[in-house]
Amino acid sequence: MTRDILLGDELPDWAGAKEFYQKYDPKEVIGRGVSSVVHRCLCKQTGSELAVKIIEITAEKMTELQLEEVKNSTLKEIHVLTIIKGHHSIITLIDSYESATFIFLVFDLMRRGELFDYLTEKVTLNEKETRCMMRALLEAVQYLHSLNIIHRDLKPENILLDDHGHIKLSDFGFSVQLQPSEQLRELCGTPGYLAPEILKCSMDETHPGYGKEVDLWACGVILFTLLAGSPPFWHRKQMLMLRMIMEGRYQFASPEWDDRSDTVKDLISRLLVVDPIQRLSAEQALAHPFFRQYQKDVRRFSPRKTFRVLILTALACIRIHFRYLRSRPVTRDLLARDPYSLRGVRKLIDGCAFRIYGHWVKKGEQQNRAALFQNTAKIILLGLEDFDT
Ligand code: ADP
Ligand code: MG
Repeated sequence: MTRDILLGDELPDWAGAKEFYQKYDPKEVIGRGVSSVVHRCLCKQTGSELAVKIIEITAEKMTELQLEEVKNSTLKEIHVLTIIKGHHSIITLIDSYESATFIFLVFDLMRRGELFDYLTEKVTLNEKETRCMMRALLEAVQYLHSLNIIHRDLKPENILLDDHGHIKLSDFGFSVQLQPSEQLRELCGTPGYLAPEILKCSMDETHPGYGKEVDLWACGVILFTLLAGSPPFWHRKQMLMLRMIMEGRYQFASPEWDDRSDTVKDLISRLLVVDPIQRLSAEQALAHPFFRQYQKDVRRFSPRKTFRVLILTALACIRIHFRYLRSRPVTRDLLARDPYSLRGVRKLIDGCAFRIYGHWVKKGEQQNRAALFQNTAKIILLGLEDFDT
């Protein structure tokens, strides 16, 4: 990312991307990914507000190989976005342009931003709202899977909210369309959302590979996180976290889960299944009793309950705050390196439970990170053997 784009005081490739600038007028930055910056933008002809994702493809900060990878994955992203255009719970790609140094992807504007931010603000969601969002997400996943497309990076940062609070799935940078009976082996995604088979596959050359089921695991992680306000698999030491994932070790701990229905716990436990064959498919998940509950979530006011929630929220904030300050001081260097930190120190602290979910393996970083990851994975395997004996 160039300094100019980060600061937003100069538009990328003004000279080379005339065609794009003739039609669109980019405004302020509204989001950042590891390899992209997203601006609000105006269509000059209609005056409509849109979003443009700008991906840099210059050799300035990347090796030839990384550059090639970013280009290829962006072209794949465009290909998938073109195939899936029109689904009510999936972002619509409106236009795309490529100059020598940047690729511009124009989308409909999702004014209410990421589900991640919404959740950070609300701490947890009730079952009714969760049901509504998860139904839309699973319908999007079901549609993708019917076309043999796997998303591979489902997480609250990649789920956006429109003006009415409806969700749309976005960021198809890791998505891939499978050939019939094709299995994948590539290690990619975001650590806390990685399915056990992705980890196992990267450690064991004889592993048959993974498929669509990885998206359903991620849906289980998201469902758990929306209701608990914290992720199911978390440990300060990332290696131990990965071990928890491989063993499918999580808890419906008290008090967060005390008031949650057995139905939703049952659905989570059928999604967070280590064996991908036993895991629910999107279709099966949508047929689960959790989605057949239409009765209103009547939340009668209870002073005792409200007081307890307030105390728990305050304690959680304090715990998160101190844990974060101890383990990762906020330095200029960290702010510069970490895209999440740029969104504000409040979010840094509030959202630190999610920070471990930051992209580890991302476009243009895949080579280095995959090697690092593979080593880590091997260490975990050794660790597991130690642990078992
Ligand atoms: P990356 O592949 O680099 O992660 P994303 O497609 O996830 O890029 O976009 C990065 C961020 O930009 C998102 O997490 C979101 O905050 C914001 N964003 C992306 N697309 C839109 C959109 N259509 N409307 C509003 N914000 C968006
Ligand atoms: Mg993203």
